[in-house]
Amino acid sequence: MKVFRWGSRALDMFPEDNALHKTYNFEGKVIIIGAGASGLAAAKILQRNNVDYLILEASNRHGGRLKENKTLADFPIDLGAEWIHHLPTVLNRLKGKSGDQVDEETVPYNTFYKFDKDFGSSSYGKIFRWLNSSIMKSLFFFRFKFFPEFKFKNSSWFNFVDKNFAEEVKDKIEFNSPVTQIDYSKDKVDVVTKSGQVYKADKVLVTASIGILKSEYINFIPHLSKEKQDAMESINFMPGFKLVMKFSEKFYSDIIMCKAKTGEKGYYDMAFKKDSKNHILGLLIQGSEVEDFYCLESEEKIVLKALEELDKIYEGKASKTYTGEYVFEDWGRHEFTLGTWIESFQINKSIIQKLNEPLNGKVFFAGELYDLHHQLGVPGAIVSGYHSIDKILTNL
Ligand SMILES: Cc1cc2nc3c(=O)[nH]c(=O)nc-3n(C[C@H](O)[C@H](O)[C@H](O)COP(=O)(O)OP(=O)(O)OC[C@H]3O[C@@H](n4cnc5c(N)ncnc54)[C@H](O)[C@@H]3O)c2cc1C
Repeated sequence: MKVFRWGSRALDMFPEDNALHKTYNFEGKVIIIGAGASGLAAAKILQRNNVDYLILEASNRHGGRLKENKTLADFPIDLGAEWIHHLPTVLNRLKGKSGDQVDEETVPYNTFYKFDKDFGSSSYGKIFRWLNSSIMKSLFFFRFKFFPEFKFKNSSWFNFVDKNFAEEVKDKIEFNSPVTQIDYSKDKVDVVTKSGQVYKADKVLVTASIGILKSEYINFIPHLSKEKQDAMESINFMPGFKLVMKFSEKFYSDIIMCKAKTGEKGYYDMAFKKDSKNHILGLLIQGSEVEDFYCLESEEKIVLKALEELDKIYEGKASKTYTGEYVFEDWGRHEFTLGTWIESFQINKSIIQKLNEPLNGKVFFAGELYDLHHQLGVPGAIVSGYHSIDKILTNL
């Protein structure tokens, strides 16, 4: 039931008490695997409590599924997470700040001009425009009240996490250090990277995506239990990408939602309410519809296909006004992500609990999927980071 989905995003599910509000006395070394939102949030707690720790990050940058482009437009473009699926107050909660007055400038993402498009239909004529009537407006605001969506105005999710989390802990990140093995059979945990370097720790926090864990990129010694593996296998971490294109004029509606067998597909105005002089249109696909694009051999062909689809709706305007500039971020095929996102509130709680279970009290897990507080996306990843590091530091 959709109403439960909306309710599940409610801010009052945010845990009142978290690691940010506590102090810890922990003797021992902690290794965090992954410098995404979750790993960075956990690291911030270790930093504040003077714990000896290190972050091993596979790629050459921090942020994980948060990434921004600052060159294509006159505003920073989120290539990963983009929407705040909440009231902006959640930003304060994530920082441990009280009150509803947020430092970040945000804009409500309440779009009116929306088309629904079925690219599978032969006629390409199945387009419904949201009626701009007062009844539709009332319905819209009713919906928005329960299902708030915001965006950063002149900033990005990457910037938020960079400033509030990474800033304090950056010095402790070892980049280009993909972990390939975790041996938790002895007193200390041996963490081995692709280059063969061995790190010893008392506790390890794994924040790599479920896509990475399912791919068995990391070899656990002893093997993960059958129950844990089954729980992992039951998660459908769908592939997807973001294509961002620049045009010389805005010929498109705020959103064009396309029919998708599984997941989502939509073209949307990325400059919506940003006071931008640029015309930036995004294509975000998650799930089955990627196949139509993944079968093409090059990024250029992917761009051409997107232009073709738009031309069919807007009578050739896309090709005519395309500036030739684009950015393509393929999360589904990114070596250290292998997927897009999970809506953890849709997953059976017992599965999330199983995934959260530590290994021999030494290896713990965190990330968006592991959040039991229904926070979704970036807030979920951060809350899970706090939750798991609290378990580590209190020896639970
Ligand atoms: C296209 C897209 C759109 C999204 N939109 C939104 C949105 O609008 N709003 C929202 O809230 N959320 C959104 N999300 C989801 C959000 O980005 C994620 O929930 C969140 O960033 C996950 O953070 P994390 O720390 O759990 O994982 P990650 O960000 O995946 O971080 C894991 C880190 O671990 C590293 N790593 C992986 N394997 C290894 C290894 N073997 N050794 C060492 N390091 C490793 C990775 O490089 C990465 O840095 C979106 C995601 C995508 C892809």
